[in-house]
Amino acid sequence: MKYSPFWWEIEQGLAQAAGEVNLPLEADYVIVGAGYTGLSAALTISRQGHSVLVLDSGVPGFAASTRNGGICSGQIRLSHSALSAKCGIDYADAVYAEGIEARLDLAKFCAEEQIECDLQMTGRFTGAMSPKDYETQCREADRLNTIDGHKAFMVPKSDQQSEIKTNLFFGGMVREEIGGFHPGKFFAGLLKTAQAAGAVIHAQTCVEEIIGTSTSKKTVVTNRGSVLAGKVIIATNAYTGTKYQFGKFLRRRLVPAQSCIIVTEALGTETVKDLMPKLRMYGNTAKLYSYFRPTPARDRILLGSRSFDRHRPSARSVAYLHQKLAQIFPELSGCSIAYCWLGNVGFTRAQIPTLFENDGIFYAAGYAGSGTVWARWLGKKIAETAMGTGNQPSAFWGPPPPRIPFYDGNPWFLPAVHRYFGFKDWIKRR
Ligand SMILES: Cc1cc2nc3c(=O)[nH]c(=O)nc-3n(C[C@H](O)[C@H](O)[C@H](O)COP(=O)(O)OP(=O)(O)OC[C@H]3O[C@@H](n4cnc5c(N)ncnc54)[C@H](O)[C@@H]3O)c2cc1C
Repeated sequence: MKYSPFWWEIEQGLAQAAGEVNLPLEADYVIVGAGYTGLSAALTISRQGHSVLVLDSGVPGFAASTRNGGICSGQIRLSHSALSAKCGIDYADAVYAEGIEARLDLAKFCAEEQIECDLQMTGRFTGAMSPKDYETQCREADRLNTIDGHKAFMVPKSDQQSEIKTNLFFGGMVREEIGGFHPGKFFAGLLKTAQAAGAVIHAQTCVEEIIGTSTSKKTVVTNRGSVLAGKVIIATNAYTGTKYQFGKFLRRRLVPAQSCIIVTEALGTETVKDLMPKLRMYGNTAKLYSYFRPTPARDRILLGSRSFDRHRPSARSVAYLHQKLAQIFPELSGCSIAYCWLGNVGFTRAQIPTLFENDGIFYAAGYAGSGTVWARWLGKKIAETAMGTGNQPSAFWGPPPPRIPFYDGNPWFLPAVHRYFGFKDWIKRR
């Protein structure tokens, strides 16, 4: 088994941005982090004729942006009804409408920039883990269908086999407008497009400190020297870490939770189609959520869920994910697992993405496991805000999220949260 992402095995090559040339002394914009957020911001700003320097402490793209499941939903963790209860129905409508806009914009972007990344709007089936969950989904589908662009319908348990060959679920909801892509191919295309637009990207360049007042230019201090920046955008999301001073403000407001993914051996396209007749993206309503899908060649199945590990998957995580897969498809209990890896997913306490400015520095983060659509879109939005050109603000723009009490970037409470969620799922199953 390979302990590296299935998505790294592409011809385009991901490590195209080298760090051997000297850092420039000055740039109009410095962006910290070269994932979807940072590169999308860099592309947007470069195309307005400004000089842009993107700094990444590792290899660009090797964090969440090429470790994800590739499901392109543009939704947020909270259902429309939960978000309405928390923030009001107008806000919920605005967020769910922006999700549609962001997803359509992703498809338009890939077409215009000729990024071939196997993007397909296959629809997503979310299996209900209890009859009560199915009823809740029915109400949610009715509500979603009142918002332009949403196409939700319910599949009762009696018809479920036409969607997925399992007896685990009590029916489920299909959202036809959701789809998936190949994260590695998308990242390679985005990187090439940003570089072609003039963005300069430095790998292995770790930002350690940012010095300056809220109205002045900033000195960005790195392990390879300092750069004077007109404006700074932080795009480090769930990889901000706990080591450096500059990340302190964000890491106190963002929880990095690990998610682990397995990909099966090649099963053959007929087997995959037999198990997933509509070849959609899939999920479930469990608190300890699983997401799964066919790979773009449709000959393997990918499944992701919680991780027991922080850095490298252990045998325990592999066994746990394989067991989840076998609960859905008992036929796969004996198959081999060919790939396993993990990565960090960023959550604000409210589980809502966030765009804000603090001390003259701009931030976009907290996509809660839905960054394939949101990170590119909100990278673009934060760039427009920083340049002062955005005439259409995002619903997520606002004051910084509140600081999480007793927390400084090390999520010590996650094992307890996972145990609590696991207990709630167990009660639900009973
Ligand atoms: C296992 C997994 C599965 C997921 N599945 C899905 C999915 O199916 N669908 C979906 O929509 N989303 C999914 N996501 C979420 C999605 O991948 C992320 O939201 C998105 O990639 C975030 O992009 P980003 O650019 O903000 O952050 P990242 O891609 O994580 O980039 C942050 C960058 O900041 C750099 N950095 C950090 N500190 C410094 C520093 N001090 N100096 C310089 N650089 C620094 C890092 O090296 C990194 O390259 C998943 C995530 C994971 C981990």
